[in-house]
Amino acid sequence: MKVPMTEYLEINLESEQWECRVCSHVIGSARKPYKEGLLAYARDPREIHKPILNPAYEFTFAPDPNWVQIVEYYCPDCGTMMEVEYLPPGHPPLNDLEFDIDALKAQWATRKPIDLTKISGPEPAGVDYNAHSHGGRAHTHSHKHGAH
Ligand SMILES: [Zn+2]
Repeated sequence: MKVPMTEYLEINLESEQWECRVCSHVIGSARKPYKEGLLAYARDPREIHKPILNPAYEFTFAPDPNWVQIVEYYCPDCGTMMEVEYLPPGHPPLNDLEFDIDALKAQWATRKPIDLTKISGPEPAGVDYNAHSHGGRAHTHSHKHGAH
């Protein structure tokens, strides 16, 4: 069973792997930080928050790149930006999600799969929404229309 953990991440409990919720790319072991399997792009904060005063001034409202960098994390397969964090330059990625996989497996052993129409998150790749009339969310189960 795949359990959504964030808007873009899910854990496959059978394989114990992090997976991308957009393209199902296998990111890496769910017992390790997911960021180890993502592409990281350390940005100069002045590219994101442009100076709004003349850069000749000491303070321009743009973050000082000597004090902060903005690190973006991307799925290496579909390119979806999965996380962004502000870190001091040289700081390692934050380990912001760490789950007890054995406890998760025990909890989900007695639960039904999540109805993805009831939670937020990306639309899975390759889904034709025009072929369905139940709203914008993806349906991963099959329907028998008129069989109520
Ligand atoms: Zn992806």
